[in-house]
Amino acid sequence: MNPRRRRQVVTTVFDGRTHHVALCRGERDGLPVFGWGEAPSTLLTRSQLREVGLRPNGQDPLALLVFRHVKPYARETVAELFSVERAAAKRPPVPGQLDRAMEARRTCVDCSEVQDYCVPTSTRQCWACFEGEHAGRVEVAA
Ligand SMILES: [Zn+2]
Repeated sequence: MNPRRRRQVVTTVFDGRTHHVALCRGERDGLPVFGWGEAPSTLLTRSQLREVGLRPNGQDPLALLVFRHVKPYARETVAELFSVERAAAKRPPVPGQLDRAMEARRTCVDCSEVQDYCVPTSTRQCWACFEGEHAGRVEVAA
């Protein structure tokens, strides 16, 4: 074996969507250990997730990232790696998404008109359509 080559073993990591076959540096606590820049691109540390507006979302770490800080002590650091696929957005939904969802809740299933109030989830009808449909019955009951 070439002594200049770092000892590496083949591992598979499932990120929730894709099985990645990658070379790692062994295992620690049952998790594959990657060097800096060696982990599959869909695995990010907690702080890397934060940088792109995501959070781990309660998932268990899939792997470990081992690297050395350049300054000040060159000490070894171990960071947990999480799947981007299983991460959740840290920020609330963008306004456009929210508007569309609200518009759907204000749209009557009968006349397809967007009302200025949320239509009842039981009927999904605006009051005008609801009353029109039930007027006959109300008169009979009265
Ligand atoms: Zn209506």
